[in-house]
Amino acid sequence: MKGKKKIKVKPLDIRKGDIIEVIAGNDRGKRGKVLKVYPRTQRLVVEGVRFVKGHTRPTQQDQQGGIQEREAPIHISDVMLVCPNCGAKTRIGHHFLEDGTKVRVCMVCKEMMESR
Ligand SMILES: [Zn+2]
Repeated sequence: MKGKKKIKVKPLDIRKGDIIEVIAGNDRGKRGKVLKVYPRTQRLVVEGVRFVKGHTRPTQQDQQGGIQEREAPIHISDVMLVCPNCGAKTRIGHHFLEDGTKVRVCMVCKEMMESR
């Protein structure tokens, strides 16, 4: 496995309450519910997933308040959304409804992710 790849920053398509699967690191293969989303840092806190990376860079971290409990935030590039319809790990597509509402679409089964 090659370590460093430059990944383009993408908007957060994963939201609180979604089920994700971890696709990298020690917790690979684990699934859990997203408890918190940090769009600025592109990180998520996932229920039951404790993600400890070997190397940690001393960058500015949002540790005010000291809310680090069991689940450590994991980076969005280390997870994939699990489709609530077909149960597959999927990439997320977007679709616009007639009223202009943007919805997320599973790229596997093409079903909408939300029930709006
Ligand atoms: Zn699906």
